[in-house]
Amino acid sequence: MTEKTIFELSRPNRKGIRFPAPDVPLAELPKDFLRENLPLPEVPENEVVRHFTNISQLNYSVDNGFYPLGSCTMKYNPKINEETARLPGFAHIHPLQPVETVQGALGLMYETQQWLGEISGFDAVSLQPAAGAHGELTGVLIIRAYHESRGDTKRTKMLVPDSAHGTNPASSAMSGLEIVQLASDKQGNIDLKALEAECDDTLAGIMITNPNTLGLFDENIVEACQLVHDHGGLVYGDGANMNALLGVYRPAETGIDVMHFNLHKTFSTPHGGGGPGSGPVGVTKELAEFLPSPVVAMTSEGDEQNPAFYDLLVPEKSIGRVKSFHGHFGIVVRAFTYMICLGKNGLLGVSTHAVLNANYIQARVKDVYHIPYERLCMHEFVTEAKWEDAPGIRALDISKRLIDFGFHPPTNYFPLIVHEALMIEPTETETMETLDAFADALLQIADEAKNNPDILHNAPTNAPFGRFDEVKAAKDLILRTQLPENYGS
Ligand SMILES: *Cc1c(COP(=O)(O)O)cnc(C)c1O
Repeated sequence: MTEKTIFELSRPNRKGIRFPAPDVPLAELPKDFLRENLPLPEVPENEVVRHFTNISQLNYSVDNGFYPLGSCTMKYNPKINEETARLPGFAHIHPLQPVETVQGALGLMYETQQWLGEISGFDAVSLQPAAGAHGELTGVLIIRAYHESRGDTKRTKMLVPDSAHGTNPASSAMSGLEIVQLASDKQGNIDLKALEAECDDTLAGIMITNPNTLGLFDENIVEACQLVHDHGGLVYGDGANMNALLGVYRPAETGIDVMHFNLHKTFSTPHGGGGPGSGPVGVTKELAEFLPSPVVAMTSEGDEQNPAFYDLLVPEKSIGRVKSFHGHFGIVVRAFTYMICLGKNGLLGVSTHAVLNANYIQARVKDVYHIPYERLCMHEFVTEAKWEDAPGIRALDISKRLIDFGFHPPTNYFPLIVHEALMIEPTETETMETLDAFADALLQIADEAKNNPDILHNAPTNAPFGRFDEVKAAKDLILRTQLPENYGS
């Protein structure tokens, strides 16, 4: 990595800006606030532009290449979403304005709640949670509040399948419930026998991800929901994988009681680097009164003379606020733009193409890469990236080598029940040529793994950095340029 910091580019008296002559009377500055020596970099304008343009290009993004990061749904984000989110009527309003003055924004939120309800089959939706994990916490708190409102205080056990995303046990634990892990069966579905064994009068509910994190549609979903309901529990749906289901399957119809959406996955809003996201929660009518407050309601439908009127209401037994103001409104504008641009048939096309693309790559590589649960996949699939005749090779080596081919690596080592997992999610927005180029790269890498493993161990060789200490990179993140020692003294 040769990129210099802005401080290293600095030379005394080189200047990027010139201050205009003052057009107000000069005044004495308060002495206490002045410093003798302010270590600012001294760099001319063109060098500043080049410096920041060059470092911005070190980032990999969906806008410069294929990003098959399973579970994250890194689809292309249409630029019209950004334009609508910046419209002054959406961007320049304040959350404390009286509702009469922000009817357009409330109308957009109301319509988004309606669209999400229609897509999922749920009767009521809150847009408040800030991301998927936050939606899970909200949903689990609603399940708790439901049992408590019935005086059913023994129900403290939440079942979480062993294939679940780590946020599922984390959000249950945060809400104060006790977590019991549930095994998957040989087909990668919820094991109904194991589930039945846990069904008793302490059962608060179960968290089900469908399609699950193996990219498989859970064939036992109806029976699993029925079993849990028969024993007085409720079913939480992790809706992060809705990209496979739009227009095809409505989770509420198979018995799920409460579910979050990831607007920043399924509905094309930017994510990565920790946000901002949006994790709306949908519920059946039995749970609507527990939703976080406020929800947007249409209090008058309007007629030919008067537009509809929207207001913010507090549901009767609300669990309270889970986020300041109204959630991440700018993300909701982007997601709503995406939905209305595509319409009903367009959304159906999203999911059918997402599933087709994943199956296409799976079919192209499955004779070389072991697929532990070989079924038709949904929008993503998981391979076990290891071979007996390539002993020193791990999934991580394959991922690092993909960087040399210009691709972002897939998700590594998740789900935990597959050793050396590579989780590949192409999304619907890629061309056949890109899918083929990626499959070709995977096949070539498998060949190198057996015949020339050092190429993989040394990869990546054409990236700005080689291999990181990944733990240090995650735990000791440095997000700003550090001032060199003794700089400017
Ligand atoms: C991404 C994801 C989550 C968490 O969503 P965030 O928005 O990242 O908090 C939960 N479950 C699954 C299956 C996911 O893929």
